Amino acid sequence: MSRKKLIIAIDGPAASGKSTTAKLVAQRLGYLHIDTGAMYRALTLKILRSGLDGFYSKKIGAIAETTRIELVPANGSLKVLLDGEDVTEQIRSPEVTIAVSSVSTLRDVRQAMVREQRRLGKDGGVVLEGRDLGTVVFPDADVKIFMVASIEARARRRQQELLEKGIRTDLETLMNEIRERDEKDSSRDESPLRKADDAIVLDTSDLTIDEQVEFVVRKAQEKLAEQDNA
Ligand code: C5P
Repeated sequence: MSRKKLIIAIDGPAASGKSTTAKLVAQRLGYLHIDTGAMYRALTLKILRSGLDGFYSKKIGAIAETTRIELVPANGSLKVLLDGEDVTEQIRSPEVTIAVSSVSTLRDVRQAMVREQRRLGKDGGVVLEGRDLGTVVFPDADVKIFMVASIEARARRRQQELLEKGIRTDLETLMNEIRERDEKDSSRDESPLRKADDAIVLDTSDLTIDEQVEFVVRKAQEKLAEQDNA
């Protein structure tokens, strides 16, 4: 009997460990990893480049409709293509990180992104991560995880990631930036960050990456076993 391929939705606040976990879970299961934050970031980069003065919803909506964003697995990671151009590094710049939460509040932007995410995930065999996967994009996802971690744990992780790129930042600055982004993502009208009622909370503050991955893989295996027995 051929097993159904699952839709796994991982949501949570900034730097809670979603991306690393989603990537490794996808590798373990042979699934596709879809980093929806990277999609919002790529679109934000395009808007910043277009020099739009302020965030005019209508124009930005039109850009969102005509922009091609691709996530291509490469060397165990994801390459992000914006209209065919590799922008994997550029979408992590401080300018994009500051602007992305404002761009993501726009309804037209969300509509275009959600449509694309549903297209990519509809046949299953996917691990999607972001803010609204379990609530809006795939409310019927097979496995829903809501990842949380203390502000300090998240800031320390971000600090380590930046250090690996040769960038030194103090913890307080990172904690403030994360707090600000959480606040914006949680308080917006359109698809705010919130836990789906049926999502499993995973607090990663004191977990290793391996433990996080193992937890999600186990939930997926339980779901597959349930389907086999149904
Ligand atoms: O996951 P990451 O931190 O890269 O996401 C960047 C930003 O994109 C978030 O702070 C949020 O504003 C937005 N986002 C969103 N909905 C998603 C994924 C990301 O609004 N599903």
